[in-house]
Amino acid sequence: MMAQYLEIKEGHPDALLFYRMGDFYEMFFDDAVAAAEALDIALTKRGKHRGADIPMCGVPVHSAEGYLLTLIRKGFRVAVCEQMEDPAEAKKRGYKAVVRREVVRLVTPGTLTEESLLEARRHNYLAAFAEIRGEGALAWCDISTGMFRVMRCAPGRLGPELARLAPREILLSEGAGSPLEMEGVSVTEHNRLAFESGPAKARLERFFDVASLDAFGSFGRAEVAAMGALLDYLDLTQKGRLPLLRPPAQESEEAVVRIDAATRRNLELSQALGGGKAGSLLAAVDWTVTAGGGRLLERRLSSPSRLREVVTGRLDAVSALVEDPLLRGDLRDLLRRAPDLDRAVSRLALDRGGPRDLAAVRNALDAAERLAARMPEGLSTLLEAARADLAGQDELRDALEEALVAEPPLLVRDGGFVAEGHLEALDAARQLRDEGRSVIAGMQAEFADLTGIGALKIKHNNVLGYFVEVTATHSAKMLGEPLSETFIHRQTTANAVRFTTVELSSLETRILNAGAEALELEKAVFGDLRQLIIRRAADLAQVARALAEIDLAAALADLAVAEDWTRPVLEDGRAFEITGGRHPVVEAALKADGAPFVANDCDLTEHRVQLLTGPNMAGKSTFLRQNALIAVLAQMGSFVPAGAARIGLVSQIFSRVGASDDLARGRSTFMVEMVETAAILNQADDRALVILDEIGRGTATYDGLSIAWATLEHLHDVNRCRALFATHYHELTALAGGLAEAENLTVAVKEWEGDVVFLHEVRQGAADRSYGVQVAKLAGLPEAVVARARAVLETLEEGERDKDRTTLIDDLPLFSVPAAAPAKAEPSEVEAALREVDPDGLSAREALELIYELKGKV
Ligand code: ADP
Repeated sequence: MMAQYLEIKEGHPDALLFYRMGDFYEMFFDDAVAAAEALDIALTKRGKHRGADIPMCGVPVHSAEGYLLTLIRKGFRVAVCEQMEDPAEAKKRGYKAVVRREVVRLVTPGTLTEESLLEARRHNYLAAFAEIRGEGALAWCDISTGMFRVMRCAPGRLGPELARLAPREILLSEGAGSPLEMEGVSVTEHNRLAFESGPAKARLERFFDVASLDAFGSFGRAEVAAMGALLDYLDLTQKGRLPLLRPPAQESEEAVVRIDAATRRNLELSQALGGGKAGSLLAAVDWTVTAGGGRLLERRLSSPSRLREVVTGRLDAVSALVEDPLLRGDLRDLLRRAPDLDRAVSRLALDRGGPRDLAAVRNALDAAERLAARMPEGLSTLLEAARADLAGQDELRDALEEALVAEPPLLVRDGGFVAEGHLEALDAARQLRDEGRSVIAGMQAEFADLTGIGALKIKHNNVLGYFVEVTATHSAKMLGEPLSETFIHRQTTANAVRFTTVELSSLETRILNAGAEALELEKAVFGDLRQLIIRRAADLAQVARALAEIDLAAALADLAVAEDWTRPVLEDGRAFEITGGRHPVVEAALKADGAPFVANDCDLTEHRVQLLTGPNMAGKSTFLRQNALIAVLAQMGSFVPAGAARIGLVSQIFSRVGASDDLARGRSTFMVEMVETAAILNQADDRALVILDEIGRGTATYDGLSIAWATLEHLHDVNRCRALFATHYHELTALAGGLAEAENLTVAVKEWEGDVVFLHEVRQGAADRSYGVQVAKLAGLPEAVVARARAVLETLEEGERDKDRTTLIDDLPLFSVPAAAPAKAEPSEVEAALREVDPDGLSAREALELIYELKGKV
């Protein structure tokens, strides 16, 4: 057995091998040590290998899923090795023969399908990135729903796209050596050959059974390679049992709003800063009632659209349901009864499904039909299309309805899921199994009649099984003609004679086999229904999509009505006019405390760049973020938390917060801040929306002020984007006054008896002072320290007044962006040194040291 184990293990060096032994999955050697620690289970030993004890641990098969989940979460991959034959079979080959075993599946983070291993409202993506001669592509699929997508993706865009999709696992070509590190994404280096576009194309054509991939779109070589690698990996991990995937849909970078990883984090779109969904925008707007609707919402929210028709189509659907509360309520009630169709179908396709998945399909189709019947015509284009997709599955639904009991058990092997009356043979088998006694009693009465012996009995013992017994007095009659033809003598005891009949012994066999037979018949019914469903998979995917679409529209409509949101107006220009905007998450948190949220306007249409000053805690960050969130919500196709909103379609959203700590990644906070600011200044186009919060805070005052100053100018003059810029550098307000399309805003506060009162009102103008001392007092700084700070401040302010306050401003050029690149000259010492640098090879620390070194040369 150990030889077999080692041979199988050799084929899966990078996975823990779950080696099936009876009712347990056992692990040995290093696997056992690692698993015992990860799972916190006992490590034992078994036998010896080369003279040393073999470490071993195991988990029971019936509770293996929980352990699998823990291992996957901790970054392990698991190869599940099953017994492929009955141990009795093996015995026939010789008493020492080992049961045949095979790895039936490789469990990795990106290839999960079990309900218990997945988050219902989250996609579980497996992605692959391929690069061929500088052209890059990203493909991703969710085998738990059958979704399959691909897009062109320049290598430099991989980070932001991964942040958008948040796949669980990404495949890279072995040895491509990409320095990819992303939280929550497990990187798998996959065989380089799988990424070759030629074989990849053939693999895809075979999988989708088409003569040419052109049927689905025109794909570049890198796209084909990425998709082909995905399929190859699925083949490897699923051991040939391939999932149902829909034909690949091409996504275009141009169609969605670009939002990079830092911005997503910052705006807390799908995840709050503390990690987890609670406190995120997604959690605040998720009113969907189906898992599929929840997943669609997550997709929309992470990829708001840039196409006006798309957004308008979605908004029309929400509007239609906003206007009809009765219909909305009914639809939501019906949707609540619709199970997760996509995931049920995909489990069935992978042969990991059970009777409950069949019932899920039935119930979903039932809900779909009722929904279609309840929806009036002409609600909106999108809802109309969804309604059309819901209908037309009566045949399948009826078949499932007729064949299944109302609430089937989880596993096929439990039996009892096929309804009575579906299959005569099954009903008969079950009757025999359950009612063996009464069938026997019936036969006994028949025999008594036939023989005219009222005392005839059918009995059972372990030696003879079932037998007919009469008292010795009747033996002559039984042994004589014509009864002897039917009754075969088996045994004579002191006062009884025992017989059997052909009928009785066959009944006996049938009773004994009835249970097994019933189960076999049920398995066959399951197989048939499963095939029926797989054949309709494409239609079912449409139904699932339609259910999700209706759910999302109804949920957003419900939310809009309950929270008093409005329909945004989307334009092609660069307007950005929000009246009475609110921050949905902060508002909800305040509401829980019974406090009101102060709505604020924001108009970037004329003055594209707005500089916001005001003391800490006044509400600057909230204001900045709420406007970015309103843009995200509007372009995802939702109503927005405002009195009115007019938005020129946004192409990119950037959000940065000064000096956010990123110690986990070992970069100095200021460095991070600057890297991120650089990204914005290099990338933002004139349709971007940029919010910058306290940029420049992470360094000395004048450094910081200078950087903030130059950044603001660059945004205004070069990027020409819409921008909100919050700062505590009052000096900057003078700059904004001097830029044509910039304007100063401030968050109003009142001073009352030496304390500061936050009004949270955004107004035009500049803050007169920072109120830092007052805020510090509010925070509970000791009275003596506050008094001392006040005195110091007064002295400083007097000193300042003596100087010309505008010196600093006058000293700095207002328009600092060079008109053209300077003429070519001999490379300086710094330039020469820079040429030698390999940025990818530098650690954060080396980079910082390099900066000092370069600075020394200037
Ligand atoms: P700043 O960025 O100016 O330091 P924040 O935006 O972090 O301030 O806001 C501080 C707190 O003030 C928030 O946590 C919130 O409770 C409250 N707040 C902010 N804006 C508003 C508002 N418009 N209405 C009511 N309360 C607000």
